[in-house]
Amino acid sequence: AYNFNPGPAALPLEVLQQAQEEFVDFQGIGMSIMEISHRSKQYEQVNDEAQSLVKELLGVPAGYQVLFLQGGASTQFAMIPMNFLPQGKAAGYVLTGSWADKAYTEAKGIGETYVAATGEAGGFRSIPAVSDIEARPGSAYVHLTSNETIAGSQFAAYPDTGSVPLIGDFSSDIMCRPVDVSKFSLLYAGAQKNLGPSGVTLVIVSDELLGQASKGVPTMLRYDTHSKTKSLYNTPPVYSVYIMNLVLKWIKGKGGLEGMEQFNRDKTKLIYDAIDGSGGFYQGLVDANSRSLMNITFALGSEELEKKFIQESEKEGFVGLKGHRDVGHMRASTYNAVPYESCKALADFMNEFRQRNG
Ligand code: PLP
Repeated sequence: AYNFNPGPAALPLEVLQQAQEEFVDFQGIGMSIMEISHRSKQYEQVNDEAQSLVKELLGVPAGYQVLFLQGGASTQFAMIPMNFLPQGKAAGYVLTGSWADKAYTEAKGIGETYVAATGEAGGFRSIPAVSDIEARPGSAYVHLTSNETIAGSQFAAYPDTGSVPLIGDFSSDIMCRPVDVSKFSLLYAGAQKNLGPSGVTLVIVSDELLGQASKGVPTMLRYDTHSKTKSLYNTPPVYSVYIMNLVLKWIKGKGGLEGMEQFNRDKTKLIYDAIDGSGGFYQGLVDANSRSLMNITFALGSEELEKKFIQESEKEGFVGLKGHRDVGHMRASTYNAVPYESCKALADFMNEFRQRNG
């Protein structure tokens, strides 16, 4: 299948094959990794290796903790304000679409918030300019969504918020390209797009921000519970972390994040070129300077034509091209594990479909 699913998303075939080989006998122990203690040396080694690979690949500076949590990115929407939005302070949210809005709505129920910038007037076709993002002095933090999975938009550069901590939701573009972690005090990502299966959420948090966490938060929802225990406070999602570790090794083998960025640029160019070269037959839903490397959204001239496009593409083996129900139209999710060949096949199909229907 040409898998363009938005998430859970494609995994590298090599990773699935290795997992299959080790499924009933992990490293000669005669059992699956799911059947052993998370306190065993075998699992601790997987956990440690995954943490070091995250640090190495993202170039995480000293003074940051790498955590593997549960509850998905959606739990982070609540954990962040519970821990870092004390009474008497406000947190700024950059509104770029559905996911930013979900994070903002959750925080509004917990503390004081303000809109640091919004792309709503333009129908979220573009990411607000970095210079338009307001980090009010004394704010608890500013939150942004690096990649809007549903709209198909992505920050090209991140704002400098000075002494105000910057927090980023990287759920749908983590490790698709290098990122300067030192600009952020906390970044997080559900694993199920670029890192592995659902069940584990990556959090990278600075010691400085950790030191400011509110007291009185329930144990499991406090970041320091997990930072003090190498993310082994309670039973972790063992299998998800194990697969994530294999995915991280795969990324390293592809040339790290520089390699991933080049690969993602090359393969998405094929599809963006098919849109831009179609004389308006395909219309991109996002302005060129805010286009995503991970989710490519586009429309065709009519609902009928879009239905036909989906039907015919499915017959050709394309999966997951229907846009999100909130936006409609088409969306091709081109996460790290989506091969160049799949994008080439889609671009060819788009060109050929346009010739037949244009
Ligand atoms: N943030 C973004 C940008 C997402 O794309 C998603 C899921 O698609 C989420 C948050 C929610 O993630 P989870 O399902 O892990 O809670």
